[in-house]
Amino acid sequence: MLEILKYPDPKLKEVAREVDKFDKKLHHLLDQMAETMYGANGIGLAAPQVGESLRLFVIDLGPMEDQPAKLYEFINPVIESGDGKIVFEEGCLSVPGVTEEVVRKERVSVSYQDRNGESHRMVAEGLLAVAIQHENDHLDGTLFIEKLSALKRRLLKKKLERAVTL
Ligand SMILES: [Zn+2]
Repeated sequence: MLEILKYPDPKLKEVAREVDKFDKKLHHLLDQMAETMYGANGIGLAAPQVGESLRLFVIDLGPMEDQPAKLYEFINPVIESGDGKIVFEEGCLSVPGVTEEVVRKERVSVSYQDRNGESHRMVAEGLLAVAIQHENDHLDGTLFIEKLSALKRRLLKKKLERAVTL
């Protein structure tokens, strides 16, 4: 299993770079990330969370939706458009012990590449759309706690600062 970086690790604030080599090394990283996500009982994991500054993430909603596991791999994803509004109680493997309601688009159209470099486009909605937006934010160095209102963020930041200094 890979080590999952925790807030406030500065690597979580970096803008990740595009993947340009679709080789064995990439496949190994994707496999290890899926294993790490399952091991940590998460439903999504982005490369910057394991210290790799690359634009890719994995998602599997199986544990949340009581359905057979289906692993999604998104490489160089771009959210082209979105509509609707959905509020979901989100957590993050890099911000343990914190869940907060976040407002997101209910439906997104995302283009991406698979592990072999093939291009795809997908329209996702509901929890999958939420997960894609949450993970995509990680690629730009944004954590879900930054999506909260200023007041909530201040309160939470205090809580987190206390937590990390203990
Ligand atoms: Zn996260």
